[in-house]
Amino acid sequence: MKVCVPACSVVDGCAAGSGPILRIAVPSPLYKTFDYLPPLGCDPTLLQPGMRVRVPFGRQNRVGFLIEVGGESEINPAALRQALAILDYDPILPVDVLALIQWAQRYYHHPLGEVFATALPVLLRQGEPALLPTLSPLWRITSAGQSALTDTATLRRAPTQRLLLDHLASCSGGAESEDLRPVVRNSAATLRALRDKGWVEAVTPVDPAHPVVSSALVSLPPPVLNPAQAEVITTVSAALDRFQVFLLEGVTGSGKTEVYLRLIEAVLARGRQALVLTPEIGLTPQLLARFRERLPGPLAVLHSGLNDRERLNAWLLARAGTAKVVLGTRSAVFAPLRAPGILIVDEEHDASFKQQQGFRYHARDLAVIRGHQLGIPVVLGSATPALESVQNAHSDRYQLLRLPDRVGGGAEPPILILDVRRQPMTEGLSQPLLERMRSHLARDEQVLLFLNRRGFAPVLFCHECGWMSQCPHCDARMTLHLRQRRLVCHHCGDSRPVDRTCPICGSVDLRAVGHGTERLETALHQEFSSVGIARIDRDSTRRRGSLETLLADIHHGDRRLLIGTQILAKGHHFPKVTLVGIVDVDQGLYGVDFRSSERMAQLILQVAGRAGRAEKPGIVVIQTHHPDHPLLRILVSEGYPAFATAALAERRAALFPPFAHQALLRAEAVDPERAMGFLHTARRLAEPMAEGLELLGPAPAPMERRAGRYRAHLLLQAARRQDLHRFLNRWIAQLWAQQVTDRTVRWSLDVDPIELY
Ligand SMILES: [Zn+2]
Ligand SMILES: [Zn+2]
Repeated sequence: MKVCVPACSVVDGCAAGSGPILRIAVPSPLYKTFDYLPPLGCDPTLLQPGMRVRVPFGRQNRVGFLIEVGGESEINPAALRQALAILDYDPILPVDVLALIQWAQRYYHHPLGEVFATALPVLLRQGEPALLPTLSPLWRITSAGQSALTDTATLRRAPTQRLLLDHLASCSGGAESEDLRPVVRNSAATLRALRDKGWVEAVTPVDPAHPVVSSALVSLPPPVLNPAQAEVITTVSAALDRFQVFLLEGVTGSGKTEVYLRLIEAVLARGRQALVLTPEIGLTPQLLARFRERLPGPLAVLHSGLNDRERLNAWLLARAGTAKVVLGTRSAVFAPLRAPGILIVDEEHDASFKQQQGFRYHARDLAVIRGHQLGIPVVLGSATPALESVQNAHSDRYQLLRLPDRVGGGAEPPILILDVRRQPMTEGLSQPLLERMRSHLARDEQVLLFLNRRGFAPVLFCHECGWMSQCPHCDARMTLHLRQRRLVCHHCGDSRPVDRTCPICGSVDLRAVGHGTERLETALHQEFSSVGIARIDRDSTRRRGSLETLLADIHHGDRRLLIGTQILAKGHHFPKVTLVGIVDVDQGLYGVDFRSSERMAQLILQVAGRAGRAEKPGIVVIQTHHPDHPLLRILVSEGYPAFATAALAERRAALFPPFAHQALLRAEAVDPERAMGFLHTARRLAEPMAEGLELLGPAPAPMERRAGRYRAHLLLQAARRQDLHRFLNRWIAQLWAQQVTDRTVRWSLDVDPIELY
């Protein structure tokens, strides 16, 4: 029996004898581990790092993680408290995940307990036993269901049932009820209704090694690979036994997912597992269905939409090796794997891989570290790789692999720069763009307008006195949402009813300035009254299932004019769209951040990638007041690789990342003096030891006040990464000591920041 029995009557410091010391990471914002004595009656030789330990912490009990068993403590043994119980027979965390967590803690200089909190399912942190779940049943369509589907009359009055049945027909291996939730609203009730009719059935995967595969369906043969795909697969397959990072640069529609699937199949054939990371928004039901259809066995899916129990179950299935493939968003980079064989990061440039609060890690970068620690290949895929990754390929740290052609032929849509200077504009749209929209719509085709600003107008303005709808808590304007009749701050979430008169002068002449998606939709309803419009942004898709309904309408051609923010730009394909209009690119061209142009280029190509397919070539039109912007020109005329080379040359000249390494110390407080005061102290501490470093600031953040707090930062930059980290090691320890003196300041360190505010 390895479990040590809790000894609740233990008094602090009762164990006077010398014995092993347990070094434990306790979830807390403190930048250190805590020493404890083993629980009473515990055989210390059975203790292993990665086990959970219940410990007294302040006046509470907490679940901590055993980091190491040491001989000595810096603390007087008489003052050490005794741990209460060991919760696991075996380490809950595999050695490699423990190593990754510790590496991440050192690199990002973040409290270890909080790193554990990010890496582990919440139930495990609460002390839940790590029991492998019974597998949830798989739902699949029956042959009666198949015939019901072909008989259109039967399902005419049950569109939800048809949608779900349709979906199940495409999942030859069946689908778990969890994966059906995004497909239709109230999927559980719909499933019951379908089951009662005998159109679907639930089957239990008895032996996970031999999953149930529907015999009624013949799965489609995998598509034939084009030469570029085949070459990529051969190259990566030859490196399955060692660490190597591959940067897979493939234009939209070039069949990257098929490459992933083939590589995963090769890994599974060797009895290993695959971990695939995608941006939150890229984890669509279509992608899940495609993985399920092609890959055997249960799939562990980890994303933010799961409840705690589901997350724990998926985590345990991955750890046991029952799930051969783990598909997840950012934090899945810490998923435990019994026999890891490959790590794949799809859309590796996506900003959502970087956590922007608390423990600010980058999941793509950690995937590379993990691959190195495990000695397995890492594939980073994107149509528009991050410049950091491109530079790593240029310097031969990563091997560059290209998929230059769309599957099934067809050229990429041409991109046209439309100079709108001095042009008469109708609700933000120029006449040439409106003309093109008319002709494409007249041909019964679809048009997509991209505008990355939701709401009706970004500001409400008094024509009489110049008052603007300022947020009372932020240095930002409140956006007018006309349909809800509210002003909403997109930064702190505060909202209030729309003012009828100016709060300063009482004038009724209040005007909406600028354009959001809601305004564009309203205007286009008048301009194209006979065309169905789909607006896709965070407001119109808030209700569960509403996005799917809109997508189905677009797919069936009921709505042919699409307006959307970046939700529309990612993950979805609209084969009938032949014209893409990018309404306003100028914001991105001259943003405050040196990464603005990179993001602009990625977004343009992503939106462009939604258009057309082989049989119907599309065109992309960009409206701009800066038609001669050099990087925009290169992007449009020569494509992304040329853009990346030019943008990297600019970065090199300006000594920006990846040619320098940065860390950002942020501070915020209700009192602006306090935040700046803390940063000035931090700078004074830094100066004597900042060899090889540049200290920039402190300076107020670009948006100085947000949600009622003043924000400022100090930027640290070094030409060599090791200089930066050697410095941070010493500096952060001193800052933690400093912190005690001013509790009103909230501060955080961001290593390799991707946003400078
Ligand atoms: Zn006024
Ligand atoms: Zn606000």
